[in-house]
Parts: sequence; C-alpha cells; structure tokens
Amino acid sequence: MELLTVNRYFISDLHLDESKPEITRLFQTFIKQIIKDNVNETELYILGDLFESWIGDDYDNPFHNEIKLLLASISNSGVKVFFLFGNRDFLIGNTFLSETGIELLKDPALLTINEKLVLVTHGDQMCLDDHDYQNFRTMVRNPEWQKEFLSLPISKRLKIAGEAKDASKQSKQEKVFEIMDVNDQAVEAIFDENQIDLMIHGHTHRPMKHEIVLDGKTFYRYVLGDWTENNAIIIDWSNDSPQFIDLIN
Ligand code: MN
Repeated sequence: MELLTVNRYFISDLHLDESKPEITRLFQTFIKQIIKDNVNETELYILGDLFESWIGDDYDNPFHNEIKLLLASISNSGVKVFFLFGNRDFLIGNTFLSETGIELLKDPALLTINEKLVLVTHGDQMCLDDHDYQNFRTMVRNPEWQKEFLSLPISKRLKIAGEAKDASKQSKQEKVFEIMDVNDQAVEAIFDENQIDLMIHGHTHRPMKHEIVLDGKTFYRYVLGDWTENNAIIIDWSNDSPQFIDLIN
C-alpha cells in the first residue's frame, strides 16, 4: 500500500492590494499550482495579513471579489484552507469565510504534524517591545470597538484605515529596528507554556529558521517571509520537516 502524505503549505504577509498586481499574480500562480498538484491531501495555512487592509466583509469591490473567487476555487478543489488573523485583516468576518470556504483558526493554534506539536500564529502578539503597537492592538481587537467601527459608513471606514496606515508607516520609520521584532522572552514563554516542538509565524517579514535551546532541548521557530513583486518565502511541509521554498515571480 502506498503511504499517503499530506502536503502542507504555510504562507503569510501577502498584503494583497489592488495597487500591487504583481503580488496578486504570484498568488494566483501559486494557488493554481497547488490545485494542479493536489493528488493527495493538501492543506494551506494562511497565517495572517492576507490583505493589506480589510474594513469589513460588506465592502464590495472587484479586487476583493477576484481574490474571493480564487480562494473559493482552491477550497472547491478539495484543498483545506485555514486562516488566522493578521494585524491588517483581523476584521475578516463570517461572510468572507463562508464565501471562500476558509476555516478560521484561533491565534495561536496548535497542530500536530508528524507527531510534532506545532504552534502557528501571526506573530504580532510576541512583539512586546513595541508598546505603541500593543496598545493599538488591544484597542482594535476589542469587540466593542470593532462593532462600532463596522457600523460606520464604508467611506468613513476607508478614511480611518488610510489614516492609520500613514501613521503606522511613519512610526515604523522612527522606531529602532530591534523593537519591531519578536521579544525573546515572549517566545520562550510560549514554548514553555504550550510544550510545543516548533512554532511557525509571520508578521516580522524576516524569514529564517531560529534554533532555541531551553533546558538543554532544542526547539525551532520558523519565520515566513512577506510577498514582494519579486518573490515570496513560504514553508512547504510535505516531507519530514518544514522546508523553506522561494516562490519566484
Ligand atoms: Mn503583520
């Protein structure tokens, strides 16, 4: 009997946006390839920031519809697609999920792969040294704030999202490079609390495999890359262990 393997792909930080058609094209090519290769079981994990911004499922526009159709096509092909919120698309709601056939995971989520306990997360929660961002996060993840925001007219929501983006761009430039990365103690605490073997996350746009030694045991933290017009560094875990692959556009 042939052993059936599950093909698993992990991606994050596509930041899909109408103004960056090259990235959308790379995503389309990637999705079509997965559908083509889907002879066994395939799972796609999107670990946040699929979109550059999301102001509510009721904001209807041709670009979002195009992406929704693409995502529905992969779900309909039998590939299981999972998603967890990023810091830019946490307002994705049930309408979007049902239209695309995507399953929402709680962030962080625990998976068992090849007998290993794996934690997947967007990663922004571990950037504890960025106090301004953590304060902002607490505000916008509050259900009351979200309810109020989503009740505003679309035009008003677009305006607020635009202003937040400008402010974030500016503050990123002002901040020291280090504080935008994950906090080492936060990472260690997560390994300790969850007894996981490895972690996969995005957000920092610094693709890398980090080795962490705790109490004489070695653990791994895999960081996914963001998508650019040239390439995207993602993880393919179809064999024994996670492998980085570089999708060239
Ligand atoms: Mn992010």
